[in-house]
Amino acid sequence: MTPSTLPVQKDPFSSRKPRVAVLKLASCDGCQLAFLGLGERLLELAAAVEFVHFAEMGPLGPLTDLDITFIEGSLSTREDLETVRSVRKESRYLVTIGACATSGGIQALRNLTSGESLSGIYPSPGFIDFLDRSTPVASEIPVDLELWGCPVTGEQILGALRSLLFGTTPPVEHDKVCLECKRRAIACVTVTMGVPCLGPVTLTGCGALCPSFNRGCYGCFGPSENPETSSLARKFAGLGLPPDEIARRFLFINSNAGPFREEGERWRGDHSHER
Ligand code: SF4
Ligand code: SF4
Repeated sequence: MTPSTLPVQKDPFSSRKPRVAVLKLASCDGCQLAFLGLGERLLELAAAVEFVHFAEMGPLGPLTDLDITFIEGSLSTREDLETVRSVRKESRYLVTIGACATSGGIQALRNLTSGESLSGIYPSPGFIDFLDRSTPVASEIPVDLELWGCPVTGEQILGALRSLLFGTTPPVEHDKVCLECKRRAIACVTVTMGVPCLGPVTLTGCGALCPSFNRGCYGCFGPSENPETSSLARKFAGLGLPPDEIARRFLFINSNAGPFREEGERWRGDHSHER
């Protein structure tokens, strides 16, 4: 979770409507759709700010003179990189939304391979100017706030936008999904059903969505503070998961996020003799 070094200002914007952009890089558009899913509240918002650029909504104006820019998607091509460098210069605040923009997302799985995966997906990958790795936006430019999730929730975006518009520091989640289960009186899926769940090492913010449907968390909100990944991985082994399956639990949507990557790499292949 990031930076929240956002300067809090009494009069954050001038008399004109704040100019807001939602930029898409390598992504599935799911986070933009979460934004659109705000429905009527988005219409109210549209009266208070000017959406200059927001592909899923319609406007595709120039990415210049921006007050707040939300970025969806990971840095996967040279064009992505050039775009975010330019947008950073043009934006007062820059917020990444979703696992792709914040940790590299599912695209970052290719970082675990030697690159041959691209030729399995694209018939002529030579036409795309890929970067060697798929990485989070903050790996290349300073980012003011990171919102995790795959997708993020509309509430997260609205909360961040509201704070920036009012000149206050946006709220940042620190708790784990487990705590959310306790608050919502959701029975622990691991204790009651033996279901492997990443909730003990994952940031909350989703309202413990998966456990509320008797499913284990797969970590889409990224690593929590002080994640005890090793203990949890050993618990998974105790539940009968083989090493490769344990590795896949960590090397999934947020495979590029440090604690998940390190734990997943430890269990890749059969390295039981090293643990
Ligand atoms: S974070 Fe998930 S929902 Fe959002 S753009 Fe990436 S893959 Fe899609
Ligand atoms: S429970 Fe886990 S995987 Fe499910 S939405 Fe929440 S953070 Fe994402």
